[in-house]
Amino acid sequence: RNREVLVSESDANGARAAGEFDLIVIGGGSGGLAGAFRAAEHGARVALMEPSALGGTCVNVGCVPKKAMWLAAEVGRRLAMAGPLGFPVQARALDWPTFIAHRERYIHNIHQSYRRRIDAAGIVHLPRHGRLVERMRSGGGVVECDDGLRLQAQRILIATGGHALRPDIPGAGLGAVSDDFFRWTAAPERIAVVGGGYIAVELAGVLQQLGSRVEMLVRGERLLHGFDAAIAEQLADDYCQAGIRLSLGCPVAELQRDDDGQLRVRDGAGTWHGPYDQVLFATGRGPNTHGLGLPEVGVETDADGHVRVDAGHATSAPGIHAVGDVTADMALTPVAIAAARRLMSHVFGGAADPALDQTNVPTVVFSHPPVGAVGLTEAQARERHGDAAVRVYTTGFRPMLEALTDTPQRSLFKLVCIGEERRVVGLHLLGEAADEILQGFAVALKKGITLQDLHDTIAIHPTSAEEIVLLR
Ligand code: FAD
Ligand code: NDP
Repeated sequence: RNREVLVSESDANGARAAGEFDLIVIGGGSGGLAGAFRAAEHGARVALMEPSALGGTCVNVGCVPKKAMWLAAEVGRRLAMAGPLGFPVQARALDWPTFIAHRERYIHNIHQSYRRRIDAAGIVHLPRHGRLVERMRSGGGVVECDDGLRLQAQRILIATGGHALRPDIPGAGLGAVSDDFFRWTAAPERIAVVGGGYIAVELAGVLQQLGSRVEMLVRGERLLHGFDAAIAEQLADDYCQAGIRLSLGCPVAELQRDDDGQLRVRDGAGTWHGPYDQVLFATGRGPNTHGLGLPEVGVETDADGHVRVDAGHATSAPGIHAVGDVTADMALTPVAIAAARRLMSHVFGGAADPALDQTNVPTVVFSHPPVGAVGLTEAQARERHGDAAVRVYTTGFRPMLEALTDTPQRSLFKLVCIGEERRVVGLHLLGEAADEILQGFAVALKKGITLQDLHDTIAIHPTSAEEIVLLR
């Protein structure tokens, strides 16, 4: 059907040969869809290749189903608090199939909405893999679908995203990755989560809250490498309080399945851990460039295989661009979307500068409680500005609901300032609602506020957020 649409629409437009577009987008995830919609808004004729579900990682096996599971875990946590507070409720285990039906209905609605928008924008959606086969002298090139259909455009956007990586160890195939997690229909009784980054911390928290016995096997000496050390330490405390077993300094060397079907993990020192019903690898992600034909058209990649782009997301081949997880940008949906929109507004809308400012990008880890961070960590500020210039303001507290229910979970907020005027260069939050609090403060930080600006702002009482304007 798509081939018919393609040919008949091209015929109707006598100025073009069949299969000729202004833009071909390879990949219909966060970056690809945002780029296709923005280009079409500016009148470009767009072909979008996406062989799998529209929305890519974020909508189907990332942000959206993950946040749904996080919300389920948070509801469970509140239910457990309700009884001791006097509500006549008894917390029972989540019925996964019921919850998953709600989660998938939500995702189905997103798919429908994308389909409507694609039709309304006149974008030609080809549910096929694309591969770059030829570069054109005038820029862009020819993309071939897996059924042999060929399209050409002077602009091509590569937005093929990434995939989960497993450690290169014997038995790695016995472990699951995050894509598998989203197919599970029950919480495994005992699980090892390997890794200490975003996905490990998020899924370990969800699973523990939903009834699994979780052990985290982290090769480094702390969680959340790259986040502020004090926040990571408090989160580790909160996780241990919640019952997660945390094995730090524990690289994994082998995975084995016993005769009775149980999994065991050998660490670098030769100690066996387990048994587990599942082992989940959350050990980073790599770019989807395999079979894309990049060398054939002169698109360079870096040592990790990411497509090399400049600040304006141009690759080494004229007219061929790349955004999102296939590049070395921060692997976050809003970064992919912002890069794609900015680029397409430049290419088709005449906007001056395609470069995306990637400083002070706010980010949240959906742990329990969540972590929010924007700007420099204390260590980064000291390294960049020198110890003498850096002032740090910290508050640790138990939010009211935790205090009312006598739950040990604690919050930690940290502000990093520099110079005489105490300009705010970093804000790091661990605690209830950190995910929602951060966005507004990220705007303020981007605008260059000082500690005095925070003090000049009247607090909202009683909230957790007020602690930020009261820091001194
Ligand atoms: P993707 O969304 O991965 O889309 C790429 C698309 O390209 C895919 O649909 C794929 O099928 C398609 N494709 C691949 N090869 C081809 C080809 N040859 N031809 C045609 N199509 C092709 N980010 C956040 O900001 N917040 C979060 O809470 C968050 N949670 C996450 C949780 C998990 C478990 C994971 C894995 C990621 C999470 N992320 C989150 C990261 C976020 O999902 C990614 O940064 C984002 O999806 C990247 O968008 P993209 O367009 O680059 O790639
Ligand atoms: P991360 O880079 O966040 O974490 C990877 C973890 O795996 C690190 O702890 C790393 O250790 C460890 N690791 C890497 N290789 C090995 C190995 N061979 N053996 C043992 N441990 C190993 O990647 P994730 O997979 O968690 O997530 C990928 C990206 O997706 C994130 O960086 C983020 O950009 C995005 N994402 C965003 C989310 C959000 O916005 N809330 C949620 C989920 C994902 P070390 O630190 O020592 O290298």
